[in-house]
Amino acid sequence: MTSLTKNIKIVDLQRHIAKYESEFRAAMSAVLGSTNFIRGAELSQFESSLSAYLGGANVVGCASGTDALCLALRALDLQPGDEVITTAFTFCATTEAIVACGLKPVFADIDPQTFCIDPAQVERLITDRTRVLLPVHLYGHPADMQRLADLARQHHLAIVEDAAQSMGGEALVDGQTRKLGTIGTLGCTSFFPTKNLACFGDGGAVMTSDSLLAERTRMIANHGSKKKYHNEIIGINSRLDTLQAAVLNVNLAHLDEMDAERRTAAMRYTDQLRSLKGITAPEVVDGHVFHCYVVRVEGGRRDELKDYLASRGIQSMVHYPAAIHQLPAYSHFATQALPEAERAAREVLSLPMFPGITTDEIDLVVNTIREWTR
Ligand SMILES: *Cc1c(COP(=O)(O)O)cnc(C)c1O
Repeated sequence: MTSLTKNIKIVDLQRHIAKYESEFRAAMSAVLGSTNFIRGAELSQFESSLSAYLGGANVVGCASGTDALCLALRALDLQPGDEVITTAFTFCATTEAIVACGLKPVFADIDPQTFCIDPAQVERLITDRTRVLLPVHLYGHPADMQRLADLARQHHLAIVEDAAQSMGGEALVDGQTRKLGTIGTLGCTSFFPTKNLACFGDGGAVMTSDSLLAERTRMIANHGSKKKYHNEIIGINSRLDTLQAAVLNVNLAHLDEMDAERRTAAMRYTDQLRSLKGITAPEVVDGHVFHCYVVRVEGGRRDELKDYLASRGIQSMVHYPAAIHQLPAYSHFATQALPEAERAAREVLSLPMFPGITTDEIDLVVNTIREWTR
């Protein structure tokens, strides 16, 4: 092997921007020309294109994925202290939104195979205060939506999906293949620059097939008003800027192609990593769109592998180094042991994954890990 190291980033946005640069520039100049920076034509175009892509769900653009979660929970009109069962292993924003809405997060442990919320744990945690199930399609892996939908029906609960990492992903529910984010009562996503469907700053959206909930969400996001200067309820200001919507129109047109590239890269990784001792590679299941490509490193050696990769110019990251109930801000909500979430926080390592990653780069990452395991 060559001693020349090539730096491989965990996400290479430059490559993506270079590929579609003329499209991005054209879309952004059109907005500069119109000066309709708030609620311009590109925003309604994006909302209807995404709606069509999702099979008809209403789409309400907003300022971030965190806001999308808050808006969805507020649209449900819950009472303070109502319980929301969610996963103990996710990005902090999932729980942050629940708490910000005055609701009580109840943490369920994860399925160690999928890193998503374990429906068997969820069932045990349902009480007469439970109102919402809030699964996350972590790393782009679909949560077990069939079992969650069954539980929600049985116990009359709403489902809010956190689809921030899973745009374009799918799951089979009641015999129908459906886009992630459109299966629950409401779905939420983020357009943060590194997400599967992204803009060049902050952005997010709420998705729902319930048009009354969509209207309520839109109203809350717009100062509680449908009509200017006629505020019916107390809302917030959470908008998706026209410039960001213009960027999203470009990226949405390429989403399937980008998700397919992520899956192809994941297959190449998993085929080769499967045989390595001490490493558990993820299964490339149907509907998984690999926001992150995450392996487990056993034997307490995760950080050692991370350092080894870094010394050879390969960037890796830990998503996430602590389960939510282990964070100082949320530890007081912990009510039970969550051993799988805690083990995941010790073992997970995200390898370079982005549309456009080359087979040479994947092979170099794999060979470097192989070298380390010897
Ligand atoms: C990114 C992310 C969010 C928050 O999105 P922002 O746009 O950064 O506010 C929420 N949940 C998950 C799982 C995420 O990955």
